[in-house]
Amino acid sequence: MTRTAIVTGGTRGIGAAICLKLKAAGHRVLANYAGNDAAASAFADANGIDVVKFDVGDHDACIAGLADAERLAGAPIDILINNAGITRDGMFHKMSREQWDAVIRVDLDSLYNTTRPLIEGMRERGWGRIVNISSINGQKGQMGQVNYSAAKAGVIGFTKALAQESARKGITVNCVTPGYIATEMVSAVPQNVIDGIVAGIPVGRLGEAEEIGALVAYLCSEEAAFITGSTLTANGGQYMV
Ligand code: NDP
Repeated sequence: MTRTAIVTGGTRGIGAAICLKLKAAGHRVLANYAGNDAAASAFADANGIDVVKFDVGDHDACIAGLADAERLAGAPIDILINNAGITRDGMFHKMSREQWDAVIRVDLDSLYNTTRPLIEGMRERGWGRIVNISSINGQKGQMGQVNYSAAKAGVIGFTKALAQESARKGITVNCVTPGYIATEMVSAVPQNVIDGIVAGIPVGRLGEAEEIGALVAYLCSEEAAFITGSTLTANGGQYMV
């Protein structure tokens, strides 16, 4: 059955791969983004996927942006992928309040901002799929990422609590914790650091965005109705939980 899906941060990296897998599964997909208009329009043109620009860290912008998305699709959103995320790394003893706030706002507050406007409709319709993209570093912690690790651990708690509240309404809420995936976020990391990371990944390479996209698309399928509240790791064996 065709459903309407929105992927936050869906125009680049992991989010773009999720959009393509959901589209291939037959869904009507919209991709949200924040500010990179050139990347968004290139993605839209190449893939025939509508893009909607709003900041997931801004509550009012999310309410308006999600309403626009539903108007554009001509249908309510049944599948929400909370993927948009940023890093503002630094050792905690040197971390500014701005670095802390930016990451909590975009990586954690966003889950309230996007999910709250959509969950009532999903409950009324008796069907929904919510997938939240956390991180390996929300599970194990990462030096230089106290802000990011805290936000991404929060995503896991959000997932488990909302899954319990939503289970009887036909809504599943799951979380994916990618390891290191070859996207622009990771290409910002110096090569010698990447080499050290890869040395610690049993599979011996970075992950591909498509590998996360495929997992997310499965979680959104009818067949995945019994999977809820789960934290699915996809990290090449780097951290086994
Ligand atoms: P990228 O930096 O490649 O892409 C980020 C996407 O998010 C872009 O579409 C960007 O839009 C959008 N975005 C950023 N901030 C906002 C915002 N405030 N509002 C709306 N959209 C926003 O990221 P990745 O693909 O690497 O990461 C995707 C998710 O996966 C993130 O949550 C990240 O934390 C997580 N993750 C990534 C890992 C990795 O190794 N790459 C590992 C583990 C988790 P625009 O183009 O306009 O800037």
